[in-house]
Amino acid sequence: MAVRVRMAPSPTGEYHIGHIRTVLYNWAFAKKHKGKFIIRIEDTDRERYVEGAVERILEVIKLYGLDWDEGPSKGGDFGPYIQSERLEIYKEHANKLIESGDGYYCFCTKGRLDSLRRSQRESGAAITKYDKHCLRLSKKEVKAKLESETPYVIRLNVRSGEEISFYDEVYGEIIVRSEDIDDQVLIKSDGFPTYHMAVVVDDHLMEISHILRGMDWIPSTPKHILLYKAFGWNPPTYAHLPNIKELGEGKKLSKRYGSVFALDFLQEGYLADAVLNFLMFLGWNPGTEKEIYSLEEFINDFSLDNVNKTDLVSFDRQKLLWMNGYYIRNMSSADLLQKIKEWAAYFSIDLVGTDYPNEYSIKVLDQIKERMRLLKDFNDLASYYFKIPDVPPELLTKYTKGRARAISILKDFKSHYEQISDWDSNNLEVRSRELLKAEEYSPKEAFMTLRVAVTGQDATPPLFDILELIGKKDTIVRLDKAIKSL
Ligand code: GLU
Ligand code: ZN
Repeated sequence: MAVRVRMAPSPTGEYHIGHIRTVLYNWAFAKKHKGKFIIRIEDTDRERYVEGAVERILEVIKLYGLDWDEGPSKGGDFGPYIQSERLEIYKEHANKLIESGDGYYCFCTKGRLDSLRRSQRESGAAITKYDKHCLRLSKKEVKAKLESETPYVIRLNVRSGEEISFYDEVYGEIIVRSEDIDDQVLIKSDGFPTYHMAVVVDDHLMEISHILRGMDWIPSTPKHILLYKAFGWNPPTYAHLPNIKELGEGKKLSKRYGSVFALDFLQEGYLADAVLNFLMFLGWNPGTEKEIYSLEEFINDFSLDNVNKTDLVSFDRQKLLWMNGYYIRNMSSADLLQKIKEWAAYFSIDLVGTDYPNEYSIKVLDQIKERMRLLKDFNDLASYYFKIPDVPPELLTKYTKGRARAISILKDFKSHYEQISDWDSNNLEVRSRELLKAEEYSPKEAFMTLRVAVTGQDATPPLFDILELIGKKDTIVRLDKAIKSL
């Protein structure tokens, strides 16, 4: 059977980083089995509908590079892929259930349902359930109510005494008693289907073979199984995925600890590939030590057998940051520059050094990328390569005994450097050490003072590499400026 998997976003808000994990697993599973990955928009909850969310969700999935084979803006043989455009299909199917007795009209008012729930709660019932009141209406009564346009919903007729079971590829056999399942609403009074109705009809009609989704949906699955049964269809294969929690907190991701939305991670300067690599391990493990995975390798090694059978997996923000740094370090500086420019353009972020030629910026990256963990670090780490920094005077004297000594170091080096014509890092180092000896400066006081004078900072890449790159003229100007400031 052809593998067809889907991700079914609800446009109720911004896309969460955990959703991207689930998209990734579906995407990779489709690729691995030479199947299709489908996106379907589940927009039937009109009360929670957020304007523009569909476009933003699709955009962020694309930004992560997880393209789909069928769905909005792509089309396909099983469309439309937006549920609000499929209302007739759900109605037809609900009517079939009414004919077979698996579904029925319910005309109960909100008032009646509320008091029913209240009295069930007061009598200590474990769950509150609809009492099948309207199932007992005669055909004639139903007809009259429909003709008089009494508002109604359509419910599933769940018969008691049944055992509903399904086999989950991750969590194993799951069994529920039908007594524990409500006669859930399939079509709401606004004519829209509920999630349960629409998801089952669409997964069937779109020939979805496997459902990979968060384990939050496990309690819904028996309801879906009942619907498949009522329609006389075979359910797909289910594989639920562990929930993601904040490391050490045991609860879901929270803004308090950092970003939670998929787009925000990109805006902060995480690379999509690094985030995906990190997400691979939130619910899956190859069982080896290997943790740097390309998408291709993931497609190869991903299998439902290796999905973690656990309730919660930890989102380790420090690990993600480390991984991003790893990806940055291991990129060519030319590619990295390209990425930084695309990122800045996409998020309208001002970059330092845009008036410099690429060759220069690439050399800057050669020196600083070791220290970068996020794309946005570029602006801080690279700024003094492009413009003369303001140097805090207290930093200039921090590594020497007194202001006079700092001035004498800077003056000596300035005139020494003015004599050097072979301006490369090796030669600069040799010549600088000659001066140290002659003047009896300690390496630390001299080189730290120089470093601060030239960069405005005391933690930087190797000093002589910086001097070589910014050039003789610029170095002299900076030393001069520092001397004057003292
Ligand atoms: N629309 C549901 C959601 O928002 C889809 C759940 C499912 O995958 O069945 O997650
Ligand atoms: Zn009713």
